[in-house]
Formats: sequence, C-alpha cells, structure tokens
Amino acid sequence: MAVLPIRIMGDPVLHSPASPVESVTDEIRTLVADMFETMDAAPGVGLAAPQVGVGLRIFTYTYEDDEGAPWRGVVINPELWIVPLEPGIPDPDDESEGCLSFPGERFPLRRAERARLTGTDLDGAPVDITVDGWRARILQHEFDHLDGILYVDRLDDGDWKTTQKIAKKRGWGRPGASWLPGVDNLEG
Ligand code: ZN
Repeated sequence: MAVLPIRIMGDPVLHSPASPVESVTDEIRTLVADMFETMDAAPGVGLAAPQVGVGLRIFTYTYEDDEGAPWRGVVINPELWIVPLEPGIPDPDDESEGCLSFPGERFPLRRAERARLTGTDLDGAPVDITVDGWRARILQHEFDHLDGILYVDRLDDGDWKTTQKIAKKRGWGRPGASWLPGVDNLEG
C-alpha cells in the first residue's frame, strides 16, 4: 500500500467526468487500498479516484456514526439520489466543507440533508445506503468529483472569487499541481 499524491484544482482529471469501472481487477483493488491509506493520511473523510489522478468512478469515505462507530466504505460506479435543497443561505458554522483538492480551506455550501447511495463494492456486492446530515454531505461531495465538479465550483460568487485568488497566489489552477499527505501536510 502507498500514500498517493493528491491532485490540486486545475489538474484536468479533476475537471472531467470519470469513466465507469468495467471490472474489478487486482489493479483496482490496489488503487482502492491506496485510496483508503491516502484518505486516512491526509486526513480526509472522503477521497475520489480522480483526486489521485485516476479517472474512474470510485470513491472511498469514512466518518463516525452517531454512536462513534466507524462508518467506512468504498463504492464502485455509484448512483446518488438526494432530497431537494432547503432554500436559504448556508451557515458558515454548520455548513462549511473542505476538499483535499483545494487543501487547507473551507467555505459554506448548502447540501441536501439526505442522500441514498447505490453501487457495488470490490466484491461486486450491492451497496445501498441512506444517510443524512454530514454523511449525506460527504457522499454528495465525493459523487460530484466523479462528474468533474469541485465544491468550489458550487460556491456563491463572492466565495468563488476568493478561491480564484487563493489558487492564483499558490500557483494552483494549472495541470500537474499535487500535494503528498505526510510530506506537505496541507490539511488537518
Ligand atoms: Zn473533494
């Protein structure tokens, strides 16, 4: 297993729709093991394959449930259903999220309160989970990555402009930028 470099906003793989996984090969199993290790090292609560430079429809996630038990998994070729968004302005305290591909920053974003995720796991077994709150947010964020959407693309105009300034200052927003958890420590 290995911690993989995480691509930063501007790399084309983050801004293109990912392709379906045709079959789960040993290569895919290794990729997923590396994604779990990379997500934990970052640390992050989710990681999509495009973030480590692989344009395939796979993401991993991890979070604790209400009792503090680990909630953790991988999904291949997912589909996501969400309830309609509540109208209104997102609360910066309760609704801010971050992204390992725009590291070290957080911005408020309204997400659907509940989501249902389907797909398969590495053994081809069906995944079918319905979650709410922060876990629903994680699934929406990671699913977006598979369609080439970063959460910064969804921010309001003011915050979006701020992200563009940050990107310019740090030399992001171009192909090939990445960071390595454990070496660069841009998160946590
Ligand atoms: Zn992200």
